[in-house]
This record gives sequence, structure tokens and C-alpha cells, in this order.
Amino acid sequence: MIQTAASSRSAPERYRAVTRHTIHRTPQWEAMDPELREAVEIVSHVLPFRVNSYVVNHLIDWDRVPDDPIFQLTFPQRAMLDDDDFNRVADLVRGQADRDEIKAVVNEIRMGLNPHPAGQMTHNVPELNGRRLEGMQHKYRETLLFFPARGQTCHAYCTYCFRWAQFVGMPEIKFEARESEDLVAYLKAHPEITDVLVTGGDPMIMKTKLLREYLAPLLSEEMEHLKTIRIGTKSPAYWPQRFVTDDDADDALRFFEDVVRSGKHLAIMGHFSHPVEIRTEMARKALRRIRSTGAEVRMQAPLIRHVNDNVEAWTDLWREGVRQGLIPYYMFVERDTGAKNYFEIPLARGLEIYQEAFRQLSGLCRTVRGPSMSAHPGKVRILGTAEVHGEKVFVLDLLQARNPDWVGRPFFARFDPEATWVNHLEPALGRDRFFFQDELDELTVSAAGALPVVNA
Ligand SMILES: *Cc1c(COP(=O)(O)O)cnc(C)c1O
Ligand code: SF4
Repeated sequence: MIQTAASSRSAPERYRAVTRHTIHRTPQWEAMDPELREAVEIVSHVLPFRVNSYVVNHLIDWDRVPDDPIFQLTFPQRAMLDDDDFNRVADLVRGQADRDEIKAVVNEIRMGLNPHPAGQMTHNVPELNGRRLEGMQHKYRETLLFFPARGQTCHAYCTYCFRWAQFVGMPEIKFEARESEDLVAYLKAHPEITDVLVTGGDPMIMKTKLLREYLAPLLSEEMEHLKTIRIGTKSPAYWPQRFVTDDDADDALRFFEDVVRSGKHLAIMGHFSHPVEIRTEMARKALRRIRSTGAEVRMQAPLIRHVNDNVEAWTDLWREGVRQGLIPYYMFVERDTGAKNYFEIPLARGLEIYQEAFRQLSGLCRTVRGPSMSAHPGKVRILGTAEVHGEKVFVLDLLQARNPDWVGRPFFARFDPEATWVNHLEPALGRDRFFFQDELDELTVSAAGALPVVNA
């Protein structure tokens, strides 16, 4: 049984988003360097900006601003835009241009920042009786991604993330019973699916009642082939009160218990960027309560320059995580989107950080896999570097693939110290294509924009 949080409820802090329009009310803002403040005001017209009192008061160390990792993660920075773009917006804002004029320029700049990488929103959309199911993605045979319409925002925004962009400015989207019905119907038609991964945005932004409406139907007997429900979330990092003092915190935990009792594995796929996020009293409490329901918490995050591009951040994160019973899962390389030049790290450097961290850890932390790129063929992992017949190469493999037969077959790319993404890599050792490329081309053509379920 879950202990209720009633005793700690004397005056629970209520969630309220802090944005460009309200940030000036926080005391830390007053104390900030005026130049930094102006940069935030201007860049936040283009890039996402949302924090909350918990992030501001408990995660950011204001003595270390602007270098503080969580400040870098959540507050837009001057150098995230190039000079031309920055100045265009700055001139309009300083000249008090009208909203439509600013909006037009901002949209243009956003388009140039590649807001929808790798055809994410148009590829892999499954169909049911000839109808496209827009809130789902089925790329890997056994796993279905589900994006509930009402889970498309987060308790705070990561500045490198463009996932939220398509929803900004849209009117409040209503819960549609149909979404949930479609999910159930699709799963019934696809017994090869063992895992549903509920993602967003952040699905834990939803009230428990809504989460239940979406997910309770997955617990029925007809869903026997479904073994695992995963919830991708950054809420234990950005708003752990969701599991401790929010009105429906206890109810959320009760629902987690229901899932576990139904015989399925419930995995909270926690997005943790930095050890500070799991060290606060509130975060520890949230994680302890989640785990007390029988759910497991796994840890995953991208490697981000200015935030966690050092060995210590990762060893601390994984060690502290494992101490609290969390399971290290993936380290990602940031995909090609947003203010990428600001955040990106050469693959060679990412590999170095990963390996140096990995080597310092005990076996229980070595459940992590990376550095991994979610790309067109699948999740491409850099295994290491090697020298073969005098040629320096990256050794890679696929952790997930459009065709499961591709998984776990090492392949080689020419070593390139500057490459930051898989499309910069060239086959090595005299080959001119990677082993999966011909088949991938065929799959892509036959898909004609929609998705074939590989081997279905
Ligand atoms: C990562 C990912 C999954 C889940 O893959 P696992 O290796 O099982 O964690 C599912 N779908 C997509 C599109 C993904 O990128
Ligand atoms: S929590 Fe996840 S979805 Fe939300 S802004 Fe950060 S990376 Fe994007």
C-alpha cells in the first residue's frame, strides 16, 4: 500500500508555469545580469521557455548562472541563435513591433531550425482500416509509441527540444475517446506488439483521471500480448510534486499499482539530464513513491553541450540513480534539430565521455547503452573506435532497427573527429554502402510516406 502524502500537505506548492510573461516576478530574475535577461527575453520568442518555481528554486544554482547546467537546459541563451536571427528579433522587440510582425519573423527562423527532424511526424504513422492514426508511431515491430493529445506539453521545457513546437498556439485539445479506442483496436490487430510507450510532450502533465481513461483499457484480458506499459516523462525531474503533493498524486500511484497488479510491467522512462535532478528531497520522495507501486524507473537522456558534456555528470547520475533503485537505460546523441550548433557534441567526444564514465562504474550501472542516435534505419550506437588494416574506424551497431535482423551486427564507418550525426558518417574498409542501406531504401520506397510494419 502507498502511504498517503497527507501528512506533508500543510501547504503544498501548486504547479504554475513560469514563462517569458511571468519570469520577471521571480526574485532571481531581478538579480540577473541585464544582458542575460535581455537575451532570455529575445531568444524565448523563438525557442521554448517554460520553467516553474521548483526548477527555479531547487534545481538551478543561481551563483553559477549562466554556466549552471539546469539554467542552460531551461533558459534560452543568446548564442542559441545566430547573430542575424538574434538581431532581427531583437530589433523588432526593442522597437515594440506588433505581435504579427514578430510572429512572422519568428516562424521563419523556426523553419530554418528544422523543427521536425527525420520525418518524425509523417513516417511510421500506423493505419487502421485505411485511416491514419496520427497519435501513434509504429517503427519497431514490438513497440508502439502513443502520443495522447492531452499530454503534449511539459512541466518545464528543455531549450533544445522542438517536440512541443507543433502544438504551440493550438487551442486546447480535447480528450477524444476515439484516440483511446483506436489504440485498443490497433493493439488488438497487432499481437506482435508487446510494448506501448506513452510519450509526448510529457504524459504526466495530464491529470490522473485522464491518464486512466487513456490507459485502463490496456489492462483488459484481450490485451494479454501487451507485456509492458512505458511512460516517458521528465516530471520526476521538473515537477516531482506530481507524485508527492499534487491533488491527484496518490491517485496516480494507485493507478500505477493497478497496472502492476494487472500483471504488466510498468516502466517509467525517466528523462534525467543531470544528477542535480535526482538529488533534491522532493525528487527522492517522488522516486521512492513511484517504486513502491512496483513500477521500475529507467533513466535516459541526451548528451547536451553546456548541460552534461562531462564524465562526472554521467557517473554521478548513474551512481546516484542506481543507489535509489533506478536503472540506467540509454544515453542519446542529440538529434539534428533546434539550436543544434549550440548543443551538439562531436560523436568522437560523446563516445569518449560515455566510455570514460562507463569504465568507472560497477556492473549494476552498466545497463546503460549509448551513445545512440535515433535515425532513419533505427537506433545507431557507437560501440567504439578501432584500427583495421591501418584504417581508423568507428565501430557501430543497431540497438533497434526497422528490420530486427539488422540488430547487433557490427559495422564500420570511417573515423571522423568532427562528425556529429549519423549522416556525416561514410562506410569504411572499401565499402560504399552500409549493410542495411539497400534494404532500407526498398522499405522506404514501399512505404510511400506511410509505414509498413516490418515483418508484420
Ligand atoms: C527508442 C524507440 C522505441 C523503443 O525502443 P527500445 O529499444 O525498446 O527502448 C520505440 N519506438 C521508437 C520510434 C524509438 O525511437
Ligand atoms: S521534457 Fe521532453 S518533451 Fe518536454 S521539453 Fe524536455 S525533451 Fe522536450
